[in-house]
Amino acid sequence: MVFARKRFGQNFLHDEGVIERIVSAIGPSPQDALVEIGPGHGALTEPLLERAGRLDAIEIDRDLAATLQERFAGRGLTLHVADALRFDFAALALQRGRKLRVVGNLPYNVSTPLLFHLLEAHGAIEDLHIMLQREVIARICAAPGSDDYGRLTVMLAPWVVAEALFEVGPGAFRPAPKVWSAVARLTVRAAPAFPVDARFARVVAAAFSQRRKTLRNGLRALLDAAAIERCGVDPGARPETLTPAQFAALAQALPSS
Ligand code: SAM
Repeated sequence: MVFARKRFGQNFLHDEGVIERIVSAIGPSPQDALVEIGPGHGALTEPLLERAGRLDAIEIDRDLAATLQERFAGRGLTLHVADALRFDFAALALQRGRKLRVVGNLPYNVSTPLLFHLLEAHGAIEDLHIMLQREVIARICAAPGSDDYGRLTVMLAPWVVAEALFEVGPGAFRPAPKVWSAVARLTVRAAPAFPVDARFARVVAAAFSQRRKTLRNGLRALLDAAAIERCGVDPGARPETLTPAQFAALAQALPSS
């Protein structure tokens, strides 16, 4: 029986077809500085190591880490027994002398903070291949105007180009989760798509906390209708219809704090 710790979001991949699809989508090569978050029992670690010859992995669970150390001894695995939420990705990229390619069947319970932590090190990361709950991948990759488009989509947009790749059913994991999963590729932009500072997060959070309201009402505490209009945005529009660049324009209209 697979012993899974609930608090670490442990659902282990066992479907060889799904594992192969993920690894093919990544296309690992020996030149890459691959980093796997949450290797678990090594379902992805094994084929990644086979193709890249070297891999850094970050695992929070000491028992799993001990088993992995033993299994992959002398095979190019550098295991960091650590919390990925506190891991210094920029330092690792410096150490490896190149940008990181991050891979993870991520613990769903920490997915959003983990993505934001990773993007704080955006200059150190080339791309991310992530598996998450299907609904979260849909939100990350959504187009303006769709139901899934929201705060998460817009907050990631300056930093990455997000591409949903494929869905994975619960049967691919042990124990089987209650939800479907999906895999996405996030390619980190060489430079942010538009200038972003703390005001961007404020405007996006305010707009989407009142999703059903028009911008005129949702942003009332930050900008009046005339100021919204001066940014080339219709104050009567709903937040999900705005592009990320339009949110950036609204943010620029706020006083800098
Ligand atoms: N990659 C394996 C697979 O596909 O079978 C395991 C995936 S399981 C969904 C998530 C893994 O992430 C577990 O091994 C868990 O212990 C680890 N994990 C959970 N939270 C973590 C954190 N904050 N930092 C590093 N690893 C974490």
